[in-house]
Amino acid sequence: MSPTLNADLHCHSVISDGTLTPEELAQRAKDKGVELWALTDHDEIGGQTRAAAAAAALGLDYLTGVEISVSFLNQTVHIVGLGFDANNSALREGLAQTRGGRAQRARAMADDLARVGIHSSFEGALKYAGNHDLISRTHFARFMVETGVCKDTYEVFRKYLTEGKPGYVAHRWATLKEAVYWIRDAGGLAVIAHPARYKFSANEEFALFTEFKGFGGQGVEVVTGSHSAADSVTYTDVALEFALAASRGSDFHSPTESRTDLGELPTLPEQLTPIWTLLQHQIQKAPQGLMPT
Ligand code: AMP
Ligand code: MN
Ligand code: MN
Ligand code: MN
Repeated sequence: MSPTLNADLHCHSVISDGTLTPEELAQRAKDKGVELWALTDHDEIGGQTRAAAAAAALGLDYLTGVEISVSFLNQTVHIVGLGFDANNSALREGLAQTRGGRAQRARAMADDLARVGIHSSFEGALKYAGNHDLISRTHFARFMVETGVCKDTYEVFRKYLTEGKPGYVAHRWATLKEAVYWIRDAGGLAVIAHPARYKFSANEEFALFTEFKGFGGQGVEVVTGSHSAADSVTYTDVALEFALAASRGSDFHSPTESRTDLGELPTLPEQLTPIWTLLQHQIQKAPQGLMPT
């Protein structure tokens, strides 16, 4: 499979914090020229059957996907899993465990926001959560835009909901080892999502990549909607240094919020191994058109 394939292996549906259904995303991916797609909802694989079916109906190749929240050195790191068996029970149970506690965290966030005069945000955020188990900061951000506290969700994350700002509540997610093992044991490959977004020191980042590799992690997102061109150059070097394959994904959440649309990304640098070349057996190939009658 070509390194210039238009693969988009990172996006979100209403099953987590996106605003489109799996079917709408499949259609949008197809319309935008995506050739290999994965839906990677946060901590939830409940959309996989719908996404795979919609992709097949549109003639779009598909990989199962998920984005797991992990706590590592007091920061939240996201690990994308690709090409796993979505019926694997250890993976399903692990994700259910990770989701537990989001409601309690959301109530604590709302209490903290109330202290700065932003009221009823739990109920407000819940309205946006298609899946109440997955209530996330994104849903709070949408409520705060709706009520005029901020002009867009980017402003929300600059002024609220992030470390040191009102509405931020620290949370313990899965460990790096758990997330990588769940993905691996279900037959998939683990990928470090958007590495430039973390605020690690050089030593901490080295520890992240070293431990990830040690647990059997195989990839890193080099080209993502969260990276600048300079970030992609940086993580090309890191991928080579750690002998990791490279992934590519928009991290698309919503037509009105996301800056990068499905499939609208630079191609991977040619010296890297695209992660999809390691996933040939896991790709759900779309039917090749109907036989003439
Ligand atoms: P949560 O899983 O509840 O902690 O919510 C994290 C989600 O918030 C991410 O998956 C993004 O969709 C969204 N988000 C947008 N901007 C930021 C930001 N600057 N920092 C953290 N999360 C952000
Ligand atoms: Mn998100
Ligand atoms: Mn993420
Ligand atoms: Mn994401």
